[in-house]
Amino acid sequence: MISPALFTVARCPECRIALAPQPPGAVCPTCQRVFDGSRGYLDLRPIEAFAEQTKYLDEALHVDARHETVAPPLLGSKIRNDQLRAFLELAPGDRVVDLGCGSGRAMIWNRDTGASFTGIDISAFFASESLDQCDLLLGDLRRLPLADASFNKAWSLDVLEHLSPQALHDMLAEANRVLSDDGAMFVYTHVRKNGPLALGVRLVNRLSGLLHRLGLLDLGTEWLRKSDHLNPIADHDDLRRVAAAAGFEVERITYYTPIIGAFVENILTRMAEQLMARRSRTTGAGGGGSDPGAAVRAARADAKTRLRKRGPVYWATRAATGVMYLDVWLWGRFSSGPFFARLRKLPPATP
Ligand SMILES: [Zn+2]
Repeated sequence: MISPALFTVARCPECRIALAPQPPGAVCPTCQRVFDGSRGYLDLRPIEAFAEQTKYLDEALHVDARHETVAPPLLGSKIRNDQLRAFLELAPGDRVVDLGCGSGRAMIWNRDTGASFTGIDISAFFASESLDQCDLLLGDLRRLPLADASFNKAWSLDVLEHLSPQALHDMLAEANRVLSDDGAMFVYTHVRKNGPLALGVRLVNRLSGLLHRLGLLDLGTEWLRKSDHLNPIADHDDLRRVAAAAGFEVERITYYTPIIGAFVENILTRMAEQLMARRSRTTGAGGGGSDPGAAVRAARADAKTRLRKRGPVYWATRAATGVMYLDVWLWGRFSSGPFFARLRKLPPATP
């Protein structure tokens, strides 16, 4: 949506000044550029086309991911969202920006906290719930079309690993600019250098690769999603340096090595999907036809519908999510690749 509140924080990406509403979009009073708002979000992408674009622009990935409606948070996404809530302590009155919001599902999951949300992404794959309930912008994270100090909290999930070192610096510096003093930002990403625990994840991944080749599960989308990782952060010392260079300190960190999670998500749920896909193909339901990829997609959509009904599939998945928590409890303190962190905006250095 494009609420009146959005106009208090939105800025022209070129001139950085406040925009005037011009239904259905907006206009910049300085450069006279008109910004489209006819699809339920403001398109504030800069004119200059940036060389760096991720495969997240690939429509195929998003069609696969079935982002058009929001399912309840489960499995890895429930763990990430619970960590987000624990780290950011969202409360009524909080002004939060979701940097790289994707479908906008994390904002939907946290609307019960009473905070207000603005989501921004470079591509418009917003879910219908987000379009109805959250302020949304299209824009470049390295040149945020947002006013200074407009938010007291921010988060960025599964985004940083897609950026080059320069883009990461620019993005964090921009996040810092739009946060108020003492503002906090939650990130979920990973470093290049893995600890010994990563061996466990590698073993599970090798097993799931084997099962993929045997046709017992389908990892196509998973591989596509990881194919454009640039992993700009070397290790956890590098994280502190990169954060400090953008005006942040790493205030709190929990490592997340999903060994059990990888087993549940990449093997158990994928095998269940494959079983459902097979069944729908034999019975002719689901419309999978002869395309196995389409059958898996149909099975995924079907599973999402079942999850929303909160029946046995939902509760079985909730139980599996509980088991996945062992990854946080058992090895959350051991430094390895993936992590949750809270970055705090440092006061400006006194000259
Ligand atoms: Zn302008």
